[in-house]
Amino acid sequence: MHEVYLDYNGSTPLDPRVAEAMIPTLRFGIGNASSAHRFGQRQAASVEHAREQVAALVDASSSEVIFCSGATEANNLALIGLAEGAPVERNRIVISAIEHASVREPAQWLHEQGKAKVDMVGVTPGGSVDLEELDSLLSSDVLAVSIMAANSETGVLNPISDIAKLTQEVGAVFHCDATQMVGRLPLSLRDTPIDLLSMSSHKICGPEGIGALIGTRHSLARLRPTIHGGSHERGLRSGSLNVVGIVGLGTASLLVSEERDSESARVKKLRGQLVDGLRTELAGVHENGDPSKRLPNTASVRFKGADAEAVVFNMDPVAVSTGSACSSGSIEPSRVLLAMGLSRDEAFESVRFSLGRFTTEAEIKTAIRQTVKAVQHVRAMTESGS
Ligand code: PMP
Repeated sequence: MHEVYLDYNGSTPLDPRVAEAMIPTLRFGIGNASSAHRFGQRQAASVEHAREQVAALVDASSSEVIFCSGATEANNLALIGLAEGAPVERNRIVISAIEHASVREPAQWLHEQGKAKVDMVGVTPGGSVDLEELDSLLSSDVLAVSIMAANSETGVLNPISDIAKLTQEVGAVFHCDATQMVGRLPLSLRDTPIDLLSMSSHKICGPEGIGALIGTRHSLARLRPTIHGGSHERGLRSGSLNVVGIVGLGTASLLVSEERDSESARVKKLRGQLVDGLRTELAGVHENGDPSKRLPNTASVRFKGADAEAVVFNMDPVAVSTGSACSSGSIEPSRVLLAMGLSRDEAFESVRFSLGRFTTEAEIKTAIRQTVKAVQHVRAMTESGS
């Protein structure tokens, strides 16, 4: 049986066209992009071309793009950078209960260091941020609100235009981790006034280890660097630029700009076939999260009475993921699903399928077959008590 990769929210395969675009720089690019000589200038020109491609993807201007190593670093720079540059009267940060660890943990660190007070806003049973609760947490001492555009486990979308409005009404900065949404649905900074946006190349079929923090001039001016020593990227991210990675991210962004809409429709149809197929073949199949407000590629599916870790193990060579994580030596259920009100048992029964650019109908058929077999096997083992 062929391997089937349905973990695009974890990381996407590199598009061969992106690889092609990176090869000339990888093989022939010589010199540091900040050097004044002709070699360095050629590297710098490649970087600036890519910067324009990345900016175009979200309708930003190229001067608003700060390249860094990925969304983890972009999120750290946004939160820690804002807190370090904050006026004393603004010392609160609001995040949601379903943020990625790269937002949650820097926020927690700032809190522990006494650099900011952190509040957490909950989510509705459908999985999106509770706007009323957010509103009740906002006041003139809030420095920043950091809320993701789309959740990586459920695919549920947050009402980011409303969140931006509420945040900016109290003069705070809206940081949005848009890592999962960029590339899957249109996101324009002209229509949605996000102040700081994090994105990552390896979620849009580009290479790993490169991403960007994109922000308005005014918001970038409020940041302090977290990495010092070379004043690259407007002084916000020192270090010689990863020119090959940046060229890859640029091409990946261009491909998304050109192909996203047709691609999303195709993937959404495949997801529908997957979930319908599972529902037809199995009883006790529930989808987590509001199905009307979701990324087109993601399905978080609960198989009643079947432990997800065991299901995923038995689905090999079909690759999917569970939301649970290993913490201090024990397996912990997904925080996201618990925040939505699922019980620990329900969270432990949930499997995430995430599709993407290279997913085919044949692969979906294989995935249905393997999942059904795995769930039936795990349920039978559970019933027999073995
Ligand atoms: N935020 C979200 C929502 C993510 O899904 C991920 C990757 N799993 C990250 C941040 C971290 O991205 P990177 O791997 O580029 O550091």
